Order: sequence, then C-alpha cells, then structure tokens
Amino acid sequence: MITLDEHRARVLAAARAAAPPPEERSLQDALGLVLAEDVRTRWPIPLFDNSAMDGYAVRCADATPGARLRIVGDVPAGSGDDPPIAEGEAVRIMTGAPVPSDADAIVPLEHTDLGTAVTAMPPDAITVTQAPHPSAHLRRRGEDADAGALAVPAGAVLGPWQLSAVASAGWDRVLVHRAARVAVISTGDELIAPSAEPARGQIPESNSVLLAAAVRAAGADVVATHVVSDDADGLAAVLAETTADVVILSGGASVGAFDVAKAVLGGREGVRYDAVAMQPGKPQGFGTIGDTLVFSLPGNPVSVAVSFEMFVRPALRTFAGHKVIDRPRREMTAAVDWRCPPARVQVLPVVLDGDTVRPASAGGSGSHLVSSLAAAEALAVIPAEADAVTAGETVSVMMLS
Ligand code: AMP
Ligand code: MG
Repeated sequence: MITLDEHRARVLAAARAAAPPPEERSLQDALGLVLAEDVRTRWPIPLFDNSAMDGYAVRCADATPGARLRIVGDVPAGSGDDPPIAEGEAVRIMTGAPVPSDADAIVPLEHTDLGTAVTAMPPDAITVTQAPHPSAHLRRRGEDADAGALAVPAGAVLGPWQLSAVASAGWDRVLVHRAARVAVISTGDELIAPSAEPARGQIPESNSVLLAAAVRAAGADVVATHVVSDDADGLAAVLAETTADVVILSGGASVGAFDVAKAVLGGREGVRYDAVAMQPGKPQGFGTIGDTLVFSLPGNPVSVAVSFEMFVRPALRTFAGHKVIDRPRREMTAAVDWRCPPARVQVLPVVLDGDTVRPASAGGSGSHLVSSLAAAEALAVIPAEADAVTAGETVSVMMLS
C-alpha cells in the first residue's frame, strides 16, 4: 500500500516532465490557457491625450462662466485632426478623441448653454455655464501605463479580461502553455449505450461521460472516447493507435479475473499498479508509455470521480502550466456522524448546508453509489488516521465549484 500523497507526487512529477514547450496562439485560440511569457504594452496607455467626456476642448483661461466661445472645429473619436484654437475659440470633441494641442481642458456638453442635445454639425458658438479646472476631463498619454509596462504577467490564466489587456497592449498572438489532448477509454463487457435496453448483467456506460466532461471542465481537450470490452487484444490495439498526451482508462484496474487494463498495462515498463491508501479509489494504475501519460482508474463511477479530482485534474493542470493545480479547500463542520475506513484517506462526496457538510449518499460511502454524485457539491477529505467523523467536528473540504 502507498499513500495518496506518494501516488500524487509520482503523477505530478510525470506530468511536469511531460509538459510540452510553449506555443504561439492567436487570441481567439488562447481562452483558458496559461500565458508563458510576460506581455508588455507596445506603447503608453492611453496612447495620446484624449477627452474623457463629450464636450468642448478649450483654453482653460478663456472658459470662464458666461464666456461665449466660437466653435472652430470638430474632433470625433478616430480623427487625426489637430485644429488650432485661438483666444475665444473652442473645438467640439467626443470621448476618446485626441485633444487639440492648443487645449488644456474639456468643458463637458452639460456645462454649456446648449446642454447635451447633440447635432450632426457643431454649433457656431457656445456659452460656458461652469468653468473647467485646468486639465479637466483630459486623459493624459501614459497615465495608465508607460510603454513597455507589464500588461499581463507570465503564469496568468487567459480569461476574457486578460485577453483584452493583451490586445490593448498591441498584440494579437501570445505564447502559451497548451492544454493536454486526452483520450478516454472505458473498459467492461457489461457496458452498453445509456439509451440501449439492458439485458441481464448489462449497465449503462457512464464513466466516459463523466471523464470527458471533467477533462473539458479542467481546460483540457478530449480527442477520443472509446468503450472497449474486456478483451486484451482490443484494448492493446486502441492504446497502440492513440496520439493523445494523456489516456484515462476506467475499469479493469484491479485483481479480478477479467481486469483487462491491468492485464494489458501491468507488465509495461513505466506503468505501475498500486494499492493507494484511500477510499474510494484504492487500485490505481499510472505510468508513462512513450510521451503519453496513462491513468488506469478503477471502474466504479464514484472511484472515477474521486480519482479524477485527486490525481488526473492536478496532472492536467500541471501539464498546461497552471500555478494553481488544486481545488480550493475550506474548513467546514460535519453536520452528522459518519464512519471512515481504517488507515485510508476517505474522499467523500458531500452536500453543503451553510458552513456544514453531510455525506451526499444516505447509504454510506460505497464507491458504487452513483446517484449520490449528482447531489454532491464538494469532497470531504478525511485523514487516514480517523476512523469516524463526529457531528460538530471540523473537516477539510475540497470545493468543486
Ligand atoms: P471494474 O473496476 O471494471 O471491476 O468495475 C467496477 C464497477 O464499476 C463495476 O460494477 C462496473 O460495472 C462499474 N463500471 C466499470 N466501468 C464503468 C463504466 N464505464 N460506466 C459505468 N460503470 C462502470
Ligand atoms: Mg470491469
């Protein structure tokens, strides 16, 4: 028996070693990926002095209350014009437009006799009703950031806001860590399509659905899904053909007579089957074949869900360059008593109620209780030393959303 932490350390070391070099991507193809180098602005932000308001660019000294100013130009956003402004003159200007070199303040539309009623052509003249401060409503070149300033640091996850910051900094391509391409393989003679009529001994295949969705939710790409029978040659053929970075098998990982995954992979160099001191998820196969990481998980759906969270998801995130590879943990209070297996870490699907948790399954912690997964919101992780949890006790909870 090895500990959960020992198995996880072996998995993560292999995932770090398998992580590919960074790649260049367009911003459209970079959502959710981790930035591999600092992105710096190509220019100062803002790029030029511009107006923060729709109004009139003025010489501040002229714009006293009651002053009548002649409008000698019109500068919409996007205009490159720089009209001169003499004494007693002003230029109509829109938000974001470059401020004429002769102006040193903006009088907003609201602070003139004409107010906010907008016309296509600028008026001949306006009367100032409220004087601007010097530099009023001017956004100065470089006020947000100097040229070369850090816009988005290496290691950042590229969400919509980060991608827009990269674009504002003047780039449409980024160097990123790519996500893993994952193949999912379910094994079992008893497995049928969910909508098929089960004959005696048959059950709907659900692990590939769980794993494919969990892989996508973790930011990786599913490139293939297979359901194979408990036939060594068939499984070996599927494995030989895969070009995925990561293969996740479920089922047949134990010591049963027909445990096909272990039969095919158990003897391969680089792959090991271990009894991990956890419940559920005790039989775990893992290793590297060529450049491919291979997980051979037990078949019980709850074991698959727990194994994914404890080992596969952190590995996928390590592969993709994430700094944060684990779900957030919270200390919460047990709402009820429950029993734990001796000398094994218990990873229990739980339901949250305020700051308390209770097992998601009323029927105990069996790894076969599939329907409890649908209600579960988190996983309570109880150390191997504990043989029971008592209501009121503090437990460590891995939050799933
Ligand atoms: P195994 O690890 O292959 O012995 O499977 C353990 C249990 O999980 C058995 O009850 C299987 O029928 C069930 N099981 C295995 N694979 C799947 C699957 N892909 N979908 C649903 N149940 C499965
Ligand atoms: Mg099986």
